[in-house]
Amino acid sequence: MTTVISCTCRPPFVHGPGFLAADFLYRSAVCADRTQGGKKLRRREADGLPMLLLIRLVTKLRGDAPVALDFDDELVADDSDTDLRATLTWLHDTRFIALNGMAGRIARLWLSPAVGCMGGTDPRIAAARHSFPYMTIAEDGMAAPQPVTVHEYSPQLWQSVYEQNQESFDSTRFLDYQCPEHGINQ
Ligand SMILES: [Zn+2]
Repeated sequence: MTTVISCTCRPPFVHGPGFLAADFLYRSAVCADRTQGGKKLRRREADGLPMLLLIRLVTKLRGDAPVALDFDDELVADDSDTDLRATLTWLHDTRFIALNGMAGRIARLWLSPAVGCMGGTDPRIAAARHSFPYMTIAEDGMAAPQPVTVHEYSPQLWQSVYEQNQESFDSTRFLDYQCPEHGINQ
């Protein structure tokens, strides 16, 4: 009798500065918008939506491929279509994602490797596809005069991003402690 063992280890997710950058940029933008003309700043539920959407999109990544977001997805189903569309458009305009198209309530898009990618993905190729920029975050965060710096796309820029994080980008296996082949009980 043979036993089929299936490895459940997966490539790791390689984090980029894009999550924080999106959050900072969006909050600065809505803040500037709402205080214009001396209006009082009000927080809205949707202020956290860019970050939430990015986190959701990351879980849907499977290698260097486009991602589909269903508006009925349990994590975003409570947000209005208007908010979701507006946020996706904003993420596209600020180049955290590249929106491929919207079919009904499903958006198809590419995630910038500045936000993150799966291990084994070459960020230089993924970035070149849509000329994604790279972002850096000021040390003081939102307190800094310019919390986020956007560096325009260039092959040299992404080459240096790749070299500085090569080990993470190249790793194709993240050990799952419950893996029947490599987990703690083996
Ligand atoms: Zn395994």
